[in-house]
Amino acid sequence: MIRYSCDMCGRSLVPDEDDRYVVKIEVYAACDSMDSDCEDEEFINDFEEDDDEEMENLDSDEMESLEYKTFRYDLCSKCHSKYLQDPLSIKSIRRGRFSEN
Ligand SMILES: [Zn+2]
Repeated sequence: MIRYSCDMCGRSLVPDEDDRYVVKIEVYAACDSMDSDCEDEEFINDFEEDDDEEMENLDSDEMESLEYKTFRYDLCSKCHSKYLQDPLSIKSIRRGRFSEN
């Protein structure tokens, strides 16, 4: 039997007892061949910088090969509702910057 645990809080999820939510995230480079036409590019670059904090355990070679990446997480119902309020941890990243610096 496959046992799941919540990837956010680590709580083990019992089938038939606990609701389990799956989060799938797809990340890929956009606007490869449309440099001048893509107004969103600046925003995308900003976003990638923000995300570096979470990927600091990867070395730079690995970072460059992350053109297409998927993530899959199992969440309990509590963390699921927490996740939906701040899917990219934008609020906590900003909060962290303020307190650390
Ligand atoms: Zn949880």
